[in-house]
Amino acid sequence: MKIYNSLSKQLEDFKPIESGLVKMYCCGPTVYMHPHIGNWRLFSLSDFVYRALRFNGYKVDFVMNMTDVGHLFEEQGNPEGGEDKIEKQAVEEGKSAKEIVDFYIKEFLKGYKDLNLSEPRKFTRATEYVDDQIDLIATLEEKGYTYETSDGVYFDTSKFSSYGELSGLTVENIKEGARIDPNPEKKNPTDFALWKFSPTSKKRQQEWQSPWGIGFPGWHLECSAMVLSELGDTIDIHLGGEDLKMIHHQNEIAQSECATGKKFVNYWIHSAFLMVDAGKMSKSLGNFYTLSEVVNKGFNPLDLRYLYMTAHYRTPLNFTWEALSSAQNSLNKIYEIVGSYEQDPKAEISDKYIKKFREKLEDDFNTPEALAVVWELLKSAIPEDSKLNTILKMDEFLGLKLQEHIGYEIPNNIIDLAKMRREYRRNGIWDKADVIRKQILGMGYIVEDTPSGEFKVKKKF
Ligand code: AMP
Ligand code: ZN
Repeated sequence: MKIYNSLSKQLEDFKPIESGLVKMYCCGPTVYMHPHIGNWRLFSLSDFVYRALRFNGYKVDFVMNMTDVGHLFEEQGNPEGGEDKIEKQAVEEGKSAKEIVDFYIKEFLKGYKDLNLSEPRKFTRATEYVDDQIDLIATLEEKGYTYETSDGVYFDTSKFSSYGELSGLTVENIKEGARIDPNPEKKNPTDFALWKFSPTSKKRQQEWQSPWGIGFPGWHLECSAMVLSELGDTIDIHLGGEDLKMIHHQNEIAQSECATGKKFVNYWIHSAFLMVDAGKMSKSLGNFYTLSEVVNKGFNPLDLRYLYMTAHYRTPLNFTWEALSSAQNSLNKIYEIVGSYEQDPKAEISDKYIKKFREKLEDDFNTPEALAVVWELLKSAIPEDSKLNTILKMDEFLGLKLQEHIGYEIPNNIIDLAKMRREYRRNGIWDKADVIRKQILGMGYIVEDTPSGEFKVKKKF
């Protein structure tokens, strides 16, 4: 398999640490709002990667987090300065932080199921790993990577010589072009909070005791702590949206590698954005759609899944309702075609098409080309029962629930017309029989005659 590694900025041959097993982590949602379909593009990508690995025979140990504390709104370019997204939402909705988190986790898991995304072994919640996060800070402190300011414990990025390897933002080049940093106590603009102290002015709902004082863990820290405790010091694949590459993932690398002395992640995979009118779809810009909005407009969530697959994950995908309609048409056509095939479990699966399909997945998860192979198969001359078994095998990756569409009903009025035509034919009234054949065709169906004088009706595609 070839994977584009954002760290080396190259297509690399994929070699897992342990033969046959892939350890994989994806930065999940911050559960303070409904995820939008930009977020779902990333979560769908993690499913495509997961399923492609499975399709290639790997076992995958997959963990995704749910950020339920500590993710701050950026303030004047300072990621450490804003309000906590969950605490703020709790005030806005007049609910407790716990109610907010529980509600949006439920919503997230519902959408996850509707998009037919593969469940990780564990969805980890940041608040369930506070002890691990405190231990990680203590280790970093012991090794001399931290310092305290009036508002928290910070990581000193100048002490990690490869800081900037992923993001390109080194301590030096940031210093040169730096604006006035809103937090003058930070030693370097790239330094980030590991632990934030609870403000004295107001009581936080989510806060914990720590050796440094009452407060809460920094957002970057949670992912490191969860990866290290669930998957180990070095993992194979880490996924996230491309906006996380610059700061969040760079900081994950810094604190993890300084704590363990080992390489943190072998392959970094970043999803390009889902765009609206050439801008990033985002919660903060308010230009987003949720999955419920998509469903309320009459779409199947799997139409969206199909739309995501039409673009390579490293290419921005511009969202329009027209593009979604066109994905819906394509998917419905696949359902209709699959529905027209008769199933024979003994029919051969085409090695040729499976191989071609697998090659596309092995080529840095090239979903648009994998879809092209699906269409090539459907248009090919191989027997229909073989096509059906082949596409069902492909659906282990596609996740389009094709099995549910096998065998469709021919409407009664079409059957009645076909019966009438059969009577004309039996009586040798060929011209009238032909008029009915054309009428049936005009209604979208094809009537065929069997050698025994019966008829067979199929949908026309
Ligand atoms: P959040 O819930 O804001 O923490 O975001 C969850 C994930 O969705 C992050 O990995 C983001 O990078 C990703 N994400 C946010 N907006 C988009 C977008 N428009 N397209 C693709 N991924 C996105
Ligand atoms: Zn993360």
